[in-house]
Amino acid sequence: MPIAEITAALAGVKHASDIAKLIKNSEVSLEAAEVKLKLADLIDSLADAKVEIAKFKEIISERDEEIQRLKKQLEKDGNMVYEEPYYFLVQENGDKDGPYCQRCYDNDKKLIRLQSAEEKGEWRCNECQNSYKDSSYKKKEPAPYRPRTPW
Ligand SMILES: [Zn+2]
Repeated sequence: MPIAEITAALAGVKHASDIAKLIKNSEVSLEAAEVKLKLADLIDSLADAKVEIAKFKEIISERDEEIQRLKKQLEKDGNMVYEEPYYFLVQENGDKDGPYCQRCYDNDKKLIRLQSAEEKGEWRCNECQNSYKDSSYKKKEPAPYRPRTPW
């Protein structure tokens, strides 16, 4: 949780500021050695705060990367068109790329290109081994029966 890092950084800064105020507002003049000690404490607090802020910066940049990744995913989802039984990815110029496996995309958001199988209109996914038949698929007609002429 980045909140913990922020809280720690803020506590460090507050502590440093309290020490600075103490030195500044001290009624009785502090001994030089005492001032030095307080200043060392103040430097420590600021160093701790710096470490916490650095951690926080790292967390923020990780989140930014995740946001970019999710944005790209959303953009891709917006360009996916389902045309039973498979998906197409619509390109910027409007061209359709694909077809892609419905099962792999719905399950894992993976774009797996379907491979055409032996029959026209029949497709196979090499990832999940699913096969699809589109509207152009025609069931093979059995060869018409032709009795062999006995002569
Ligand atoms: Zn698949």
